[in-house]
Amino acid sequence: MPIHEEHLIRPENLKTHENLVIDGIDVSGHWSTFIESRVLTNYNEQMEEEIAALPGGEFIHRCWQCGSCTNSCTVNAVNPEFNPRYWIYLIRTGMESELLRDKDIIWQCVSCNKCTYACPRDVAPEGVMKATAHWLELKGHTPKSPSTHFDEVFSEQVIQTGKIEEGRIIRSFFARTKQELMQDWLVEMVKRLVSKLPVTMLMRMGLANVLRPRTKNWGAARDAITEYVDEQNAAHRKALKLDDLVEMAKSEVKPGQAPAE
Ligand code: SF4
Ligand code: SF4
Repeated sequence: MPIHEEHLIRPENLKTHENLVIDGIDVSGHWSTFIESRVLTNYNEQMEEEIAALPGGEFIHRCWQCGSCTNSCTVNAVNPEFNPRYWIYLIRTGMESELLRDKDIIWQCVSCNKCTYACPRDVAPEGVMKATAHWLELKGHTPKSPSTHFDEVFSEQVIQTGKIEEGRIIRSFFARTKQELMQDWLVEMVKRLVSKLPVTMLMRMGLANVLRPRTKNWGAARDAITEYVDEQNAAHRKALKLDDLVEMAKSEVKPGQAPAE
């Protein structure tokens, strides 16, 4: 019997034997196609709470699965695998292993916020996508994305100096993501800037790269922001039980090692 809606089944869950004879009857190929059962045993019952504890994920509990976010999504229009509604469903039902199958595309949200405008329940799906990408990184499921690296160099500079110097941010971002500085698009952009911007402004930008200017009396503000950021990071680590995971990893018995007392 043919499998209906075969396109809805993940290819790796379809098992076909090229040559298979059962009780003397040749059922090779198409006739031996089986669908792998999807029995999940490793639910993460805290997953919704963990995502909700990260910035942007706060309203995930409101979702009623109408699908308006996915229907309006810019990235879904070019890649149907990018499916915010489905990922919210997986998070709310704790299906972590299913979510991890899509871990390499979740960060591709372009923050256009069409989903946020379309959502009838004020879930702010764009925020949920950001929180989910952040969660994947914090849990060690994915390396830091380029956008996380950019956020980090940007925040570090603002916190340290109270200023935004684009040239230094771009240099730091390229260094951290191990990219060549002399990229064609960047050279072209600099050429256009040089031909359009006033000389005084260009000189100021050039000097800022060397002198690293700071906002006057920034110290108190820097300390307050740093304290707040540290508090938030500690709260996120606690919500995701990251310190427990580190302790568990340390106490794991390695091959040839005596178990801890
Ligand atoms: S913000 Fe992200 S999830 Fe929302 S519509 Fe845009 S690309 Fe899709
Ligand atoms: S539009 Fe809002 S309520 Fe509808 S599925 Fe997306 S997040 Fe859920």
